[in-house]
Amino acid sequence: MAENMISVEDAQEIILAHVRQTPCEEVPLAEACGRPLADGVVSDIDLAPFAHSAMDGFAVRAADLAEASADTPVELDVVGHEAAGAVFAQEVRPGQALRIMTGAPVPAGADAVVKYEVVGVVAGDGSDGSRVSFTAPAQVGENIRAAGLEAKAGAEVLKAGEVLTAAGCGLAASAGAERVVVRRRPHVGVISLGSELVAPGAVPERGMIRDANSSALMAAALEAGAQPRFVGMAPDDPDKIRALILKAAETCDFVVTSGGASAGDYDYVTALAAEEGEVFFDRVAMRPGKSQTFGLVRGVPFVGLAGNPAAASVGFEILVRPALRQMMGFTELARPVQTARLATDQRKKQPRRYYLRGRVERNEAGELVATPAKSQNSGLFGTLHHANCLVVIPEDAPGAHAGDAVACVRIDLPEGSVL
Ligand code: AMP
Ligand code: MG
Repeated sequence: MAENMISVEDAQEIILAHVRQTPCEEVPLAEACGRPLADGVVSDIDLAPFAHSAMDGFAVRAADLAEASADTPVELDVVGHEAAGAVFAQEVRPGQALRIMTGAPVPAGADAVVKYEVVGVVAGDGSDGSRVSFTAPAQVGENIRAAGLEAKAGAEVLKAGEVLTAAGCGLAASAGAERVVVRRRPHVGVISLGSELVAPGAVPERGMIRDANSSALMAAALEAGAQPRFVGMAPDDPDKIRALILKAAETCDFVVTSGGASAGDYDYVTALAAEEGEVFFDRVAMRPGKSQTFGLVRGVPFVGLAGNPAAASVGFEILVRPALRQMMGFTELARPVQTARLATDQRKKQPRRYYLRGRVERNEAGELVATPAKSQNSGLFGTLHHANCLVVIPEDAPGAHAGDAVACVRIDLPEGSVL
């Protein structure tokens, strides 16, 4: 059995070598958020477009206030009022101030804005025709956001390859881009295989179980940034399985099945994939998830995951997620890894890499401790639901002892996170 088993790294590498990036599409900003930009964004105007006030207050000539103090306040005439969106066409001359709101352009002549709260009103109500007094000097440029502060017209404000954030959407919008170019989210066809499966809405009779994997795998595809599509369930019947896989390959960029992938009497997936295309491997030296097939079916990447819930989900995490992200143009494909002290002894039966579902947390002394869930039964979803990491016990290790340093793959954090 062990002869045709390949390492996790080899399996990942083979899959990454056989997936192609999806075509580019131009989409509204919010839809592109979270995806890497395929093209940069160039601003057509200065950002900010004009020097404007950062405060509600008075635009003044700083030189007028050079001698201002509490004992010798300086009084200025208010010559107008400028709201955001308005333009005060005159110059602020010596001895004058302009009442100005946040976002309004700084008028000619003025070189500082003094915030409203520290200005005394001597006569009038602070608007046009009032007199106001200042008890401190102002710095040139104070409370003014300069034109082109963030970028000059023609500058590339977002670069190809950068992952668009919410703030990046704001930056693109300021630069005049309502739509940006990203790679299309890959369509992932999800199929559940097994004669024992019923839909989650049904109450299973004896011998039957609910199809839980497709929900988990579609959610995982969504989390990866892809577009999942449930193609259906098929019993362990080669013709039905073949029909479903071919249907998925026709309409999707990637096909994922769970179940029927091992060497049981009714496990047809690998043979079918080989008949309809090419299979590159069908065993990976990991646990859970030894029986995992990768191939191209009619040219479309196909991963046949093991049926046990934890095996299917961990298999997706390790083999499918990096591929989907690469298809969208992400260059960072590895989840962050943290080294922690193992909380409990771990026995190991096979020379495979164990991914133990567990949690890594700081103890009271501030040290990172990795606690694998008590049950590593791969039939359970709950342990994975509560896990924030996969604790790695290397393939060649005979096991691990409490206190050993272990690598923890943070499945709760995005690729590229700095810990
Ligand atoms: P298999 O890989 O087909 O041998 O399945 C291994 C185990 O996973 C069996 O106990 C199956 O009943 C279970 N299983 C397979 N597919 C699913 C599914 N879609 N949802 C929940 N459990 C499944
Ligand atoms: Mg089965």
